[in-house]
Amino acid sequence: MIAEIISIGDELTSGQRLDTNSQWLSQQLGNLGVKTVYHTTVADDLAANVRVFAQAVDRADLIVATGGLGPTADDLTREVIAKVAGVALALDEPALAHIRNLFARHQREMPERNIAQAMFPAGSRPIPNDKGTAPGIDMAIAGGSDDHFARVFALPGVPAEMREMFTQTVAPAILLMQPAPQVIRHRRIKCFGVGESQLESMLPDLIARGRDPSVGITVHAATITLRVTATARTSEECFALMEPTIATIRQCLGDLVFGEEDDELEHALLRMLCVQGKSLGTLECATQGLLAEWLAEANGPAGPYRGGQILASPPMLLGILGEHAGLIEEFGPSSREVALKLAESMRSFLKVDYGLAVGPFPLEKNGENQPATYHVALASSDFTKAFPSTLVSHRSIWKPRAAKQALNLLRLHLLRQNP
Ligand code: AMP
Ligand code: MG
Repeated sequence: MIAEIISIGDELTSGQRLDTNSQWLSQQLGNLGVKTVYHTTVADDLAANVRVFAQAVDRADLIVATGGLGPTADDLTREVIAKVAGVALALDEPALAHIRNLFARHQREMPERNIAQAMFPAGSRPIPNDKGTAPGIDMAIAGGSDDHFARVFALPGVPAEMREMFTQTVAPAILLMQPAPQVIRHRRIKCFGVGESQLESMLPDLIARGRDPSVGITVHAATITLRVTATARTSEECFALMEPTIATIRQCLGDLVFGEEDDELEHALLRMLCVQGKSLGTLECATQGLLAEWLAEANGPAGPYRGGQILASPPMLLGILGEHAGLIEEFGPSSREVALKLAESMRSFLKVDYGLAVGPFPLEKNGENQPATYHVALASSDFTKAFPSTLVSHRSIWKPRAAKQALNLLRLHLLRQNP
């Protein structure tokens, strides 16, 4: 069964409001075992809506539309569905009584134009709306090939009303449409340390189209997520189907995998520090507190993260480096030597097991082919190590990538200490 979600409203197509209904509906449909193949967003325009609905009726089996059911002149969904189905609008007396009743309860006169909300395409069924005036519409419309029917559910745009009506009436109706009810379940494997295409090349044909369970790959601020999806009769079956795929992923990627689901690198790192009974402090130049914010947020009370310091600009390095300030002159502010000294100074200042530092980003030099290098560094009581990197990716991910490189430097060290 193929589903299409249609979101209607000028406020959506003009960019004033984000379409959150589609996201929520796709998730709900997924839970019911229905795959959503199309998201369509359309303005409050009659001709455009007719075109969109006619197309959806042709290509989808299930259509859930939201918006355009209000009482005002720009609310067109009733009319659109009637046109596409080739039927007239007729007054539904119980729906009108419900709307009148709602106004009476608030001791208000029902405006004439609200009668429009009780008009339904002939042959459709109202979907009750306990909280608001606009009932929804449930209708089967013929389209596409000879015996194809699409089931259309039109709901109000107000997210709270839409959700309640979907859960109470639409979801049970969708379950009845399916010969053998199915569920769709996902698992997410989180990775860091290489680029997306390199990571993909490390996996056997898992990302191939049509594979079951399917594996999708997305990147957000240098963290790569592998999303494994299975469809089966029960959640348990789905998770069992995914197990061999996940084992293969973990085997091929090794320590590039740091966690699952909502895990971020800081969660993985703090868990390991807890297990090994070690403490951590940070000193940041380039990342400007990002590292401290993530770690502090994920740190439980009395967690292993003890705090950190932020240097707003490279001249502040002088004060921190003290007698070693000459390193700046000798090697440059973004050098390995400076980053190592920063990690050491933080470690001894906070009296922690590990000091983690992010040095300053280098100034970009126009016209030079050499990509600009910076360093993250780690210090413990018996060793120091640094990791060099370059400002290659888009500017918007420089800071999160550098912060993650620092977290990963310590994570990999702890893994080797205690696999
Ligand atoms: P409507 O049913 O079109 O009159 O919309 C009523 C309210 O719901 C308006 O405030 C809209 O901004 C909001 N709304 C409509 N569609 C969506 C959507 N797809 N996502 C989030 N909010 C929406
Ligand atoms: Mg609207």
